[in-house]
Amino acid sequence: MTLIGARFPGRYLQGPGILPLLGKEAATFGRTALCVVDRGIYDALAPAVEAACAGAVAATLVRHGGECSESEIARVEAIGREAGAEVVIGIGGGKALDTAKAAAFRLGRPSVIVPTIAASDAPCSALAVIYHDDGKVAYDFFFPRNPDLVLVDTAIIARAPARFLSAGIGDALATFYEAEACRLSGADNCMKTRGAAIAYEVARLCRDTVLDHGVAALAECEAGAPGPAFERVVEANILLSGVGFESGGVAGAHAIHHGLCELDDVHHHLHGEKVAIGVLAELILQSAPQEEFRRIRDFCVAVKLPVRLADIGIADATEEKLRIVAERACRPGEIMHNEAAPMTLDKVVAALRALI
Ligand SMILES: [Zn+2]
Repeated sequence: MTLIGARFPGRYLQGPGILPLLGKEAATFGRTALCVVDRGIYDALAPAVEAACAGAVAATLVRHGGECSESEIARVEAIGREAGAEVVIGIGGGKALDTAKAAAFRLGRPSVIVPTIAASDAPCSALAVIYHDDGKVAYDFFFPRNPDLVLVDTAIIARAPARFLSAGIGDALATFYEAEACRLSGADNCMKTRGAAIAYEVARLCRDTVLDHGVAALAECEAGAPGPAFERVVEANILLSGVGFESGGVAGAHAIHHGLCELDDVHHHLHGEKVAIGVLAELILQSAPQEEFRRIRDFCVAVKLPVRLADIGIADATEEKLRIVAERACRPGEIMHNEAAPMTLDKVVAALRALI
């Protein structure tokens, strides 16, 4: 018997200026809400969040501490318990959202996610990356269910630096190539089943959307004039990529990302920027036709994503560094082995060398 599966956020809403809907939407889950607000945008956004909740849910706002760690989750959970929160709302970037998801799970309450950047596909997922208090990754925390609502106000997303949108495009670009690798190899997706057909269609739509609209979306964002292309790409970065990776599965591009994170050189670069390098390496590892590789590399240049190791801070790509990356990427049981062809250390080092 082959078991197939797919998972989704409960509801997804996107549009410019829709933050005022938050209270009415959150009220469908409970009467009291704990709002975990990213510290970077707390002062700018807290009044609008309070206004959105007024008359619909009794909201307690908490300023996120900055790290998604065990201690921060416990702190937020305690505030939520004290406030009798019936729903937990996360507002901000990845770490604030992950903390809200984890606190909601611990409290046994629904979660509402309001991303303020479109830099990765994390908002829709049933996963949080937990860090030690010193900023090193501790472990991945998988939840039994996805966020109950993801509400994306594209007017807020458009106010963030365009670099975040580029990074999200890098993460979204990986979704198809990784899902396709899993489909070909028969590897499991993130729910330990084979992907349902919808997963691969969503992954394909995700890639095609960013390829078709990415350049225009970035131009709209940089001009401070978000339009139709921007809307399409935000949907691809957050919803399509999120559903595509969880239901389709992950493989070489993210394995390379994990490997790159072993080097201190890359720490000032965003997740999606490192994943873009992972996609190019994965295309080499998949022996993609030259024209496909060139098409994707040229696209990355056009949307200001890195295409060389030096672009993500690895100025002196020594053999030793490449081996450190490859060793982490190829660890036994690692997602690199979801690729259809067998992967070895030497193959990965050679792919990385081609990106110097
Ligand atoms: Zn990713």
